Amino acid sequence: MDVNQEKVNQVRKIRIFDTTLRDGEQSPGCSMHINEKLDVAEALERLGADVIEAGFPAASEGELKAVKEISAVIKNATVAALCRCRKEDIDKGWEAVKDAAHPRLHVFLATSPIHLKYKLRIDEDTAVEMIRTHTQYAKSLTDDVEFSFEDATRTPYAFLARAARTALEAGATTLNFPDTVGYATPAEMKEMISYIRENVAGIDRAAIAVHCHNDLGMAVANSLAAAEAGASQIECTVNGIGERAGNAALEEVVMAIKTRRDRFGMYTDVVTERIFRTSQLVSGIVGIKLPPNKAIVGKNAFAHESGIHQHGVLANKATYEIMSPKDIGVPENTLFLGKHSGKHAFSELLEEMGYSLTPEQVDAYFPRYKELADRKKEVTRSDIDALLSGIYRRRVKRIYSLKDYEVTAYKNSASALISLEADGRIHSDRMTGDGPVDAGFKAINSLTGQNFKLTDYQVHSVSEGKDALGEATVKLASPEDGKVMTGKGISTDVLEASLIAYINATNKLLQEE
Ligand code: MN
Repeated sequence: MDVNQEKVNQVRKIRIFDTTLRDGEQSPGCSMHINEKLDVAEALERLGADVIEAGFPAASEGELKAVKEISAVIKNATVAALCRCRKEDIDKGWEAVKDAAHPRLHVFLATSPIHLKYKLRIDEDTAVEMIRTHTQYAKSLTDDVEFSFEDATRTPYAFLARAARTALEAGATTLNFPDTVGYATPAEMKEMISYIRENVAGIDRAAIAVHCHNDLGMAVANSLAAAEAGASQIECTVNGIGERAGNAALEEVVMAIKTRRDRFGMYTDVVTERIFRTSQLVSGIVGIKLPPNKAIVGKNAFAHESGIHQHGVLANKATYEIMSPKDIGVPENTLFLGKHSGKHAFSELLEEMGYSLTPEQVDAYFPRYKELADRKKEVTRSDIDALLSGIYRRRVKRIYSLKDYEVTAYKNSASALISLEADGRIHSDRMTGDGPVDAGFKAINSLTGQNFKLTDYQVHSVSEGKDALGEATVKLASPEDGKVMTGKGISTDVLEASLIAYINATNKLLQEE
């Protein structure tokens, strides 16, 4: 018996539906450049997500284009497009995913009394009719149709079951019952899914899904409770990003199912060794640092500080560790390469760390590695991660790049002379400001002729020791449409890292349509 068959006989598969690129991306400050979306989509496919919700194509032309491009590169996972119950939404959704290897249309309508009355201003009969006609229309375009009953957890069971029967009869192959507002408890989730299974005839023809929000911190627990009651698809996001308090965190759902397989009797197809890297990629792109105590992927998730714990772990890891950091791909932060290491060693290490770079990219990054090895005594794996953070295969086109800078500062006044390169020409300008960073940012705005507004600015140390690398994150907003882009910069000099981050965010905003 092969391993997969063995898995099926023993346990039930839970499909992982990732909505980092839709629910995650639409949350405040989490916008991604199209190239970053493609990087994330490819990382999710390598991670083993079953379904990647790539976006909401009716939202804008840019969103449609991104979903279309994601559909073109994703081969194994299903690519889903979200659509409201409107013909034009479904048409745009289909245009975006029709060339995917496995396309899915994901149509939704709210079913709770409060949404029907105040948001949609329709009665139950009208809602049922909308569900029927739009599911049928989506089904006329593709076999794989998911229908979501928005705010399901605040919908009376009888009506929810009627809505579910309607979508099922109209051809939906997945029925999703979201806890849109993060209000439900695990016991309620179980009760709701059990009710649906008992009261919707033929429900076994469709997959039951849940999509839980974390407003009360119960998104993961609610998702797992629903799975125990028979749901077979869990919708989640990397690092739990998403509207308000976010969605169920993919890494927590997956590792709970894996670690407590004895209890749940389920498995997922996620390659857990890729969790840490994917988490870092998403965190880097959206510019949101994880709290150190974040489950599974936080910096301290596997740290043992107290003497008693350390003693126990040294004697036997299982005393305090229920999972191994290796299982989620946390790199062991040991010294590995020095400044005399060659390109071959560098390339092999990248391979081993899970990066899949083209030979041209290895060539491009090797000098930066050497430069780093010259500046730092020890180059660690976290240094390499920092050097390559957010850099997979596509890079945001550099319209402007930092050529040189010279800053003088005294107490609350500073002057910065910044030189940028654009189209092979060097442009320089000097500005004064409250401090060196402020002066530098002003000089960049003056050189690019932009009036982008700084909405967030953070500097962190990404590795240890006094020669650690500094990582700056800058969020800039366009005054015209309020679009926010995140820029990152890494250097042993935090001022340089800040200037690079500011230019990076500027380049991204200039490429947004
Ligand atoms: Mn949501």
